[in-house]
Amino acid sequence: MARLEIHQFPTRSDNYGVLIHDPATEATASIDAPDAEELLAALHEKGWVLTHILTTHHHHDHTAGNTIVKRMTGCTIIGPAMEAGSIPGIDIKVAEGDTIDVGNAKATVIETPGHTRGHVSYYLPEDEIVFVGDTLFSVGCGKLLEGDAKTMWASLQKLMILPPETKLYCGHEYTNANCRFALTVEPENAALKVRAAEAAELAVKGEPALPSTIGQELATNPFLRPSSPAIQKRLGMEGRELSEIFGEIRKRKDRF
Ligand code: ZN
Ligand code: FE
Repeated sequence: MARLEIHQFPTRSDNYGVLIHDPATEATASIDAPDAEELLAALHEKGWVLTHILTTHHHHDHTAGNTIVKRMTGCTIIGPAMEAGSIPGIDIKVAEGDTIDVGNAKATVIETPGHTRGHVSYYLPEDEIVFVGDTLFSVGCGKLLEGDAKTMWASLQKLMILPPETKLYCGHEYTNANCRFALTVEPENAALKVRAAEAAELAVKGEPALPSTIGQELATNPFLRPSSPAIQKRLGMEGRELSEIFGEIRKRKDRF
């Protein structure tokens, strides 16, 4: 069983970088490369040598560091085949069900389109970790920039069926602000109230509320809870298609 070390660090204005390191083989992967300089500094701080970048999607705030970091480290860049044309330096194109080895660690590709057309998440079942980029956030979800509500809802459902203890790492950290919105959708949710209080405390200390877990998100994240009777009632959408209810919650968040 892999014993991965994980290093999470804030980068750019509101992204989060994550490094995973397999001590047995010295393999090290970065989830996305938001900023070359900050990524190289994080590697230096840990004394790790980068072997892979696992790209979740083509947006600049996830790929801006690719070219320089690849030149400096010779790492292999992996990313979604569907967005290969807009991922600088991509070496290996992946799609649903593909597996990638980072040393002894094994990541499975889950296609999670919606935020972008080809967005992928990387699931490491043995390590009970999933990297979801901008698909799912702590108490939030990504904007529907290149997909509709139905597409994104299908993607979220793939993440919702992962074991509840699975740790969730996201491309950004907005938990505190997301809780304020979530409480307008489901104010009676006791787990959400607890989460909002914790997130407010962490925000004061400048600490991230990440990683979250799939179980915690299922209990508190309104975007995963369109089946909640309280939410359906509040939105006046009792018995409607879950993807439609999800879409309405997303629209309200866009206006919030
Ligand atoms: Zn994005
Ligand atoms: Fe982003």
